[in-house]
Amino acid sequence: MIEVRNLTKKYGDHYAIEDLNFTIEKGKIYGFLGPNGAGKSTTMNIITGCLAATAGEVTIDGHDIFEEPTEAKKLIGYLPELPPVYLDRTIREYLKFVAEAKGVAKADIKAQIEKAMEYTKITDYQDRLIKNLSKGYRQRVGIAQALIGDPELIILDEPTVGLDPQQIIEIRDLISSLRGEHTVILSSHILSEVQAICEIIMIISRGHMVAVDTPDNLEHLFEGMTTVELLMEGSQAVVEAALKDLENVSSLMAEEEEDGVTKVVLTSETDDERTLCRNIFTIARALDLPILQMKTDKASLEDIFIELTNSETDEDEEEASEVPELISSDPGKEEDTSESGL
Ligand code: ADP
Ligand code: MG
Repeated sequence: MIEVRNLTKKYGDHYAIEDLNFTIEKGKIYGFLGPNGAGKSTTMNIITGCLAATAGEVTIDGHDIFEEPTEAKKLIGYLPELPPVYLDRTIREYLKFVAEAKGVAKADIKAQIEKAMEYTKITDYQDRLIKNLSKGYRQRVGIAQALIGDPELIILDEPTVGLDPQQIIEIRDLISSLRGEHTVILSSHILSEVQAICEIIMIISRGHMVAVDTPDNLEHLFEGMTTVELLMEGSQAVVEAALKDLENVSSLMAEEEEDGVTKVVLTSETDDERTLCRNIFTIARALDLPILQMKTDKASLEDIFIELTNSETDEDEEEASEVPELISSDPGKEEDTSESGL
């Protein structure tokens, strides 16, 4: 359905996304997961033909989005992160405007509007002005406009942001109900959300795709990994330097919590918790760094997501090579974690 090859977008010297490659298959719900600034909106704006790329290729059902935008865009319904607002129109007026803009045949417009309103359960409010709707209902209108024209592909950029818990449940149910009739890509910075709705999770981090798999497989990918939470006496720099040579560490995050006490969260590619703890103890003893607390746990998908993406919002951080490459899931792969700050 969608083929994305070597997609790159640069703003000045800054790569919003770099060399993204992925395929979207028909009929599934995809979750595009990553923290703020990871590159989700940039990617979505490009594959929907709303933004030019610096390099790379996007085809929608064989149509190049840059060379045949009209054909490609017909296959897509898009709810952007910041949708244009038409506050002084009623729902019906707005949807009619959208249908005309999308070039829906005149004879089909009424039926299309009815269907989209029915699907998003807004039929009863069709004559209400958009400015008088709650955020949850505005989001339904946003999804309804994406459905107009009956596109195969529905792309929703963070559709639950800013909604209250009840509205979030309703919008998630609505998205789930698209399953089977549409291919859906949904972006989110909330793991539990994509875990609940999506068949495939794509994790994006600082403009790079770091994992693409089913929720189950992602969980299995991290089986046999251990996280350690550690409180040590010593400055952040000293503690980081001390733990640098610990074996099999895939990510390490250290932060000085109070004067002279540093909290460390590290993930290790071992399920041998005892040896891991012993190795940490040996290092601490050799350097005379008292351990105030040490707690181990099996790494969960949540841990991994947090660690993968933890410092990603820091725009000045170096990227690329320091992000563990998880797509290949090659267990023998060496990773440079020396100063990842993850
Ligand atoms: P997300 O949607 O995952 O939060 P974005 O795609 O909005 O991330 O942003 C990715 C990166 O690109 C961020 O570092 C952001 O600051 C940068 N960026 C996005 N849009 C622009 C722009 N118009 N000009 C400059 N930088 C931008
Ligand atoms: Mg965004």
